Order: sequence, then structure tokens, then C-alpha cells
Amino acid sequence: MRDQQVYLDYAAGAPLLPEVKTRMDEVGEGLVNGEYGNPSALYATGQRSRRLLDEARMQVALLIDAQPSEIIFTSGGTESNNTVIQAFQRQIIWTTPIEHPSILEPLRKFSRQKARFVSVDNEGRVSPKNFYRDPDPKYCPSLVSVMLANNEIGVIEPVREISMKCRSPKYKTLVHTDATQAIGKIPVDVNELKVDLLSFSAHKIGGPAGIGVLYVRKSAHVRPLLSGGDQERGRRAGTENLMLIAGLAKAAELARARLTEWDKVAGLRDQLRAEILREIPHVSCNSPKEGCLPNILNVSFEAIEGEAIQLMLDATGIAVSTGSACASSKLEPSHVIMAIRGDAEIAHGSVRFSLGLNTTESDIQKVMAVLPKIVAKLRDMSTLKAGEHDKES
Ligand SMILES: *Cc1c(COP(=O)(O)O)cnc(C)c1O
Repeated sequence: MRDQQVYLDYAAGAPLLPEVKTRMDEVGEGLVNGEYGNPSALYATGQRSRRLLDEARMQVALLIDAQPSEIIFTSGGTESNNTVIQAFQRQIIWTTPIEHPSILEPLRKFSRQKARFVSVDNEGRVSPKNFYRDPDPKYCPSLVSVMLANNEIGVIEPVREISMKCRSPKYKTLVHTDATQAIGKIPVDVNELKVDLLSFSAHKIGGPAGIGVLYVRKSAHVRPLLSGGDQERGRRAGTENLMLIAGLAKAAELARARLTEWDKVAGLRDQLRAEILREIPHVSCNSPKEGCLPNILNVSFEAIEGEAIQLMLDATGIAVSTGSACASSKLEPSHVIMAIRGDAEIAHGSVRFSLGLNTTESDIQKVMAVLPKIVAKLRDMSTLKAGEHDKES
């Protein structure tokens, strides 16, 4: 049974893929039967676990064109990002104002004074021109961290161009990208991007939550966040979770095989955008038309709250989100929409529709059957006036 007839919140988490569940069940069976011992142990069942880890590392490495030894298993995108930021505390870090909170919050904690936020344009894109090598090594960043694609609006950042400007053996600037939203939607290749560090998480590609990846290029070293045993070659201590790692590996394998299917999703997303703009007045898009992930559409509805739209859509069985799930418990407007639009009312009126490979045209029709009425009803009750922004846009 499904509570939601229409799920359009894939950017917050994709449903667990059946093939992934089957694989985790197999490993779970083996764990019950004592077939998988501690991977650090030298006896046979420990070595069987070790082989499972090796194979999983290979699958994950294939997805991003890395070497298996460059893959560190973590508890998710959050841990991978925290690991990177804490490793560069008290050093100069260049980043953007639209990063995920799992970059921005550790930055605030560890190195606020040393962080420089490179501004984004009104589509959310940073310009590679704003990244340069200062002739004085004293002012050169130790780390540049720019997300590959934004989780709220879907804009794709020019990470390769930024890497080419920043990488300099002389100053040892490392480039990190948070690829959590991009992975599985667009090709992600660490050599093409020329990055040293890359984060992502399994549950955004149909794997289980609680497992993720930090890629660390062979030539780079990152001080571990968790110290203890020498699991993950001393780069992340703690006994490995075989079920989750096997699930991540299966999800990575499927993501790689299904990369070409996202064109169809982009078509549905474009259809949703066109219909919203046609059927509903005083709306504006926060997602760029070009250079955007195929599955994200962020729209601002003037004079009403995104949260109200979300609740009324939910009452009809449609799941969407406002900004990011992580920010939605706060009353502050989305930092991403504020950075590109600079208007709190527009930011409060934003809704994110995020599609997946299971989204159908009938899902889009179900949204369009109720959304115009919901917006009209909320505007009737609103004390604000729609149309005030038309002069500017
Ligand atoms: C979801 C997400 C994260 C956090 O991943 P978790 O698995 O929740 O830790 C980090 N960055 C981006 C861009 C995300 O979308």
C-alpha cells in the first residue's frame, strides 16, 4: 500500500530499489548464518566479508572512474562533507553560499573566518573567473569546495573549469565537490572533473540511507574524522556495515546502467514547468532551463507560502518539498533561493518538485489537476498581493 499516490520528492531520497533490497537480504541471511565474520579477521568468514567489501569498492569506483583504493565508505553525504571541512579547519576555504547545510554548518563551526563565499549569479551558478591563484601563497585557499549540482534548484556548477583554475601543485589547493544530487543523474567522472575529493550518499540513488562515499584521490590526504581501528586504511575507523555497503554497491551498479534513462525524466520535468507557467499566473522558475539536473524543478508562487502548498498537495496524496528537507523545520527562507533571488517573499513561496525514473506523465497530470486550484485558494486567503513582482521580472 502506498500513502502517496504521487511522489515528487526524489531529491530528498529515492525509494529503495527492489534489487538493492534483495541484495541486502542475501547479505543479511549470510550474517544470520554466520557466513560473514568481521572483515578485519583472518579466518575464512572474515575473508569472505573482506571480498564483499573489495567487490563493493570496485562497483562504487566504476561509477565515478576512481581506483577502488580511493573509495572510503562513510555514513553518508553528511559525514563525507564534514570529514572534508574539519580536515581543513583554520585553513583558507573557498566555497559557495548555496552549498548543502552539511558543508555550511561545519564551516561555521570550524573555520568561519577563513571561509570565502564566491558569489553565484541569478541562476545559482558560480563563475570560474572568480576562482584564481593568488600570487601570494598566503592567500591561496587550501581547499575549494563547490557542489556539482544544487539540491534545491538543480543548477549544475562548472566544477571542471574551477578545478582547472585552482589546481596548482605549488600551492597544494585541493578541490572537493559534493556530488550527492548529481550522482546517477549525470555522468560523474573524477578524472574529467579533475577533483581531489568527492562526496555522495546511497539513498539519493535508491540505495539505503546511512551509507555514503568519500572519494580521496591517491595523491591527497585527508585527516580522518573518526579515529580508532585501521578500517578503510586508517581513513575512517569503525567496523564496516556489510549490508549497507552491499546495498550501496548494488545501487551504484544500477545507477551506472540507467544513466541514459534520465532524458525521459527531463522531458516530464519540462512538461511540468510548461504547464505550471501556462496554467498559473504570477509564478517564476528558480531552476535554470539550461545546465540543470534532469529531475529538479523549483518554482516560486507569489504571495503564498510554499509550506501551505506542500500541505494541501499532501492532502491529495502528492509529496513535494519546499527548499530542502533539512531546512524545512526552520522558518527562515531557503538560503539558496535568497542567494539567487534576494527576496524573502519569493523564497517563502518556493516549492521543489523532484522526479525519479518511476515518475510518469499521469503523475504530472495529477499535479496539474489540483495545483492551480490550490494556488488560487491560498491566494484568496492571503493578505499579500500576487503580481507585485511582475514589474521586475
Ligand atoms: C542529501 C544531501 C546531502 C546529505 O546526504 P545524507 O545522506 O543525508 O547525509 C549532502 N549534500 C547534498 C547536495 C544532498 O542533496
